[in-house]
Amino acid sequence: MKDKIAVEEHFVFPEYEEYVSKAWMSPETHQRMISRLSDIGGVRLEQMEASGIELAVLSLVTEGVQAEPETARAVLQASRANDMLAEVIEQHPGRFAGLATVALQDPDEAIKELQRSVRELGLSGVCVNGFTTSGEGGDYYDHEKFLPFWQCLEELDVPLYLHPRYPLPSQRAIYDGRPELLGSTWGFGVETATHALRLITSGLFDRVPGAQVILGHLGETLPFTLYRMQGRMKALRGSDLKRPVTEYLHENFYIATSGNFHTPTLLGALMEIGADRVMFAVDYPFEEMAEAAQWFDGVPIASRDRTKIGRENAMNLLSLDGVRDV
Ligand code: ZN
Repeated sequence: MKDKIAVEEHFVFPEYEEYVSKAWMSPETHQRMISRLSDIGGVRLEQMEASGIELAVLSLVTEGVQAEPETARAVLQASRANDMLAEVIEQHPGRFAGLATVALQDPDEAIKELQRSVRELGLSGVCVNGFTTSGEGGDYYDHEKFLPFWQCLEELDVPLYLHPRYPLPSQRAIYDGRPELLGSTWGFGVETATHALRLITSGLFDRVPGAQVILGHLGETLPFTLYRMQGRMKALRGSDLKRPVTEYLHENFYIATSGNFHTPTLLGALMEIGADRVMFAVDYPFEEMAEAAQWFDGVPIASRDRTKIGRENAMNLLSLDGVRDV
């Protein structure tokens, strides 16, 4: 497939390198990732050409401004990142789109920045890297104070990409002595899946039924775990939710293939959530475009589904009207 759209592709600008975690990464790998994250129009574009990726949807690398402890600085850094991202997109017409950065340390400012990013800068949604740092702890987005932000997303009709970050220091005891489990190997998925479940079980999607969340890595295991959760919730205490929990996954979530180029996992996820809610993604530069593309182009699914997953679903969800329609 020559005109794929990849939806979880990361970048960094020099002013934001402080937010890139060095945890469980060799210094050489870290340096190589910084250099690949910083390059947007060079090697990245060449690899997109070679891999049949027409357009990459860019987002600031984790942990981004979610890790900024000073609220005023987080607000400023988010707005500057969005300005610079919009400039990069404009320099390469038809090759890049972007997800905004917002500082949910201040929900009112985040709403203003989201509105500006979508309406004035033409960005396609927002990417948040997990919870927002708050003192020694973190704020998860099922908290009541974020409801107006969700309502704003619904009103603007743009999605929120819930991208992983490391768990809070106070939540890491289970990984003691096994640092290799803490990040993208395992802990990212547990952290992000649990965050998504907080959103669902809080009743958020009963209050903002149009809100749409994207999860990477083929759904951070949720397509494979929600059925049991639904059964146990019903058996143990019932629930105040208007719908069974799997229905929220089917109606308020999209999942992307980022870093999970594994056919049995894709087929299982497709059986649960359907081809209208899966999108192609690489997770560049942490994953390789060639590997992702080679796998996806040959995966045994109907060609109609390949077109939806590889391109059309992203076009529709992210309103990528500027992209050449082929
Ligand atoms: Zn990622």
